[in-house]
Amino acid sequence: MLYDQKLLFTPGPLTTSASVKQAMMKDIGTRDTAFNDLVQSIRGKLLTLGQTDAYTHSVVLLQGSGTYGVESVLSSTIAPTGKVLILENGAYGKRMAEICEKAHIPFEKKSFSMIRSLPLDEIEEDICKHDITHVAFVHCETTAGVMNDLEGIMNIINKHKKISIVDAMSSFGGFPIPIKALDIDYLITSSNKCLHGVPGVALIFAKKETIGSCKGICRSLSLDLYEQYRYMEEQNGAFRFTSPTQVLAALETAIDELIHTGGIEKRHQTYAGLQKSIQKEMEALGFQTLVKLKEQSVIITTYVIPEHFDFCDFYEYMKAHGFLLYSGKLPSYDAFRIGNIGEITQEDVNAMLACAASYVKEWSACR
Ligand SMILES: *Cc1c(COP(=O)(O)O)cnc(C)c1O
Repeated sequence: MLYDQKLLFTPGPLTTSASVKQAMMKDIGTRDTAFNDLVQSIRGKLLTLGQTDAYTHSVVLLQGSGTYGVESVLSSTIAPTGKVLILENGAYGKRMAEICEKAHIPFEKKSFSMIRSLPLDEIEEDICKHDITHVAFVHCETTAGVMNDLEGIMNIINKHKKISIVDAMSSFGGFPIPIKALDIDYLITSSNKCLHGVPGVALIFAKKETIGSCKGICRSLSLDLYEQYRYMEEQNGAFRFTSPTQVLAALETAIDELIHTGGIEKRHQTYAGLQKSIQKEMEALGFQTLVKLKEQSVIITTYVIPEHFDFCDFYEYMKAHGFLLYSGKLPSYDAFRIGNIGEITQEDVNAMLACAASYVKEWSACR
């Protein structure tokens, strides 16, 4: 290894394949037809992966991490006369509210437990309020790794004819999402999660009919989704400002690999298999999950930190052996997370688990 390479057991950025890294080893001019072809190819493939088409949706690419995409949608699509209901069950839903607060976007936040899926029977009374024009929520709340019922929530939103904003950052690419059939207005994801690309670009599916009436709403130049959309549509995929060229080259390779290895359904099964083996061994080592398994997404598992267990020490031990767990602490819970997305194999998972087992064995012995 040329440098200190670790295997990332995190929910992104994550371990990428050699060919994805290789794709970035070239310089690309942005005002050139080859670059336009690259962007248009990515946008077209994403439409297919999202089970929709260019007639109904446009995929808008925006420089920055996933949050830039969420901020762009919230600040470009909700007029001062509108109001967004944010259904929140974790840090990323809270971040949506923070974005609205900063930008003076009218919003209402409804908070729920971050270790449970959003309760379908409790959200309708808020969704149906007549001053609510938009409803925003997170599909897979990466905070505790809780999966929300996308179809169930979309049915309620559509029944009441509200505009939907779905943060599918950590789910798109790893869960089949029929964007057209579910009639989703805005869905945001990014290059560096289940698509297995490198960080640097947010990907926004925008329903053309809905985004078409958003001209002039945004009070930011660079985050203006409508303008980015118009420009991309009219200029054959060109970005308004310098585009993340190498990130896009890597993304196209990552998407091709996703397609050639069997697509989203297959990737979902792979994740589920890896998570199952992690869960089996962690349980055997005495760790308990914070979230009920049927509400836990297949991309990440949250474990309660046992009493007298020094997670920092465990983390450093795993790191010294080449395995990066997810160190971020959960708000209000003593828990840690192990992600299983990215280019990691069953062998990698086995090696990580063997390492965890040897740590726990030592720890138990000296108690
Ligand atoms: C990763 C993630 C984001 C975006 O975070 P960035 O740090 O901006 O990439 C937003 N929502 C969810 C659910 C996420 O998992």
